[in-house]
Amino acid sequence: MTARLRTDRSTLPPERKAIRSTSIACVGGNSRVCLGSFLMPKDETAESKKAFIEDVKAKSMGGGRVDLYEVLAERILPAIKWAESKGAQFEPWLQQAPWRVGVRIASPGQYRGMPKLLETLHDAFEKAGGKERF
Ligand SMILES: Cc1cc2nc3c(=O)[nH]c(=O)nc-3n(C[C@H](O)[C@H](O)[C@H](O)COP(=O)(O)OP(=O)(O)OC[C@H]3O[C@@H](n4cnc5c(N)ncnc54)[C@H](O)[C@@H]3O)c2cc1C
Repeated sequence: MTARLRTDRSTLPPERKAIRSTSIACVGGNSRVCLGSFLMPKDETAESKKAFIEDVKAKSMGGGRVDLYEVLAERILPAIKWAESKGAQFEPWLQQAPWRVGVRIASPGQYRGMPKLLETLHDAFEKAGGKERF
């Protein structure tokens, strides 16, 4: 997730107060600037999850952690559903041929979706009473 530096807005000059806090407070993070593709199995079937684990393992050329791919295979689809329930939007699942695994990209598309996704989830976090402590 993207870290934000909170500014005490009462001390800002009027022209800066007019700018949405998210515009001035977001200071970086790979999550903000990344392409926004979420690798995931096609569906919840055991076959799709197995294909996901095998393909990610092959794509990583043995360099990654299979135990984490297994967690992803189990958790990514419910996690995306949860994010959608908070207002997040993703493009339709797209197979990454020649692999069986696919992606959903944060809407509206590559590089443009992540700032929107982070703001949506951050707004949900604040609505739920969340506060940043830094
Ligand atoms: C160009 C690009 C494209 C990518 N595309 C994809 C993709 O399509 N799909 C994918 O899955 N991954 C992609 N990645 C990788 C992905 O972006 C990162 O793995 C992911 O964003 C890491 O998330 P994070 O929360 O660990 O770190 P970040 O999102 O980088 O968040 C870390 C935050 O910590 C803050 N911070 C650092 N030090 C401190 C400190 N001392 N005190 C307070 N805050 C601090 C930083 O400012 C930053 O905001 C891409 C990366 C890049 C650069």
